[in-house]
Amino acid sequence: MAASMGDFMSGPGRSKPCRACTDFDSYVDQYMKEKKLPATMKATLKDELQCPLDKNDLGRNTWSFLHTMAAYFPNKPSSMQQSDMKQFIHLFSKFYPCDYCAEDLREELKTNQPDTSSQHAFSQWMCRLHNTVNVKIGKPEFDCSKVDERWRDGWKDGSCG
Ligand code: FAD
Repeated sequence: MAASMGDFMSGPGRSKPCRACTDFDSYVDQYMKEKKLPATMKATLKDELQCPLDKNDLGRNTWSFLHTMAAYFPNKPSSMQQSDMKQFIHLFSKFYPCDYCAEDLREELKTNQPDTSSQHAFSQWMCRLHNTVNVKIGKPEFDCSKVDERWRDGWKDGSCG
């Protein structure tokens, strides 16, 4: 692969202090356009470059972790498990690397405490939390009745095996 980190970091991205707060995809898109590379190569290119995560990569990977963690939360958690998970979410909101995302999350948690009373309740809470972010950034809302299919059981049509 001909691309190198230098190709990507020679633009204004270099002066940005927080990669996890910015959308690096636009640099990749610009590079691919200049080099006339097909859009289907984008994932391979990003994989090969092994660059630090941008806001979107970080978000995607983090939501995958959070929803999967909720999907495997106990059906009948002990009171210790319930309070540990609440604490985890609060601590997570203090250290999430996209600073303005974390700030909004801390604000949200003031009025919307995690519901850790069961696997179902926690998965639904996480789904609604993700939807508040989706709405804020103009993305479609996800149908929360399908959250277990998406993150634990696979789609009902069997397409996930
Ligand atoms: P993502 O939104 O990352 O979703 C990944 C996958 O999750 C989707 O493909 C879909 O299958 C599934 N999914 C979507 N919605 C739901 C849902 N409600 N429940 C269950 N599954 C779902 N970006 C900003 O620009 N501004 C912010 O303030 C911001 N705050 C964030 C706060 C947190 C805590 C996190 C983890 C991320 C935040 N992000 C923010 C990043 C943003 O949410 C996306 O991750 C990013 O824009 C990439 O979006 P995506 O289209 O790849 O899909």
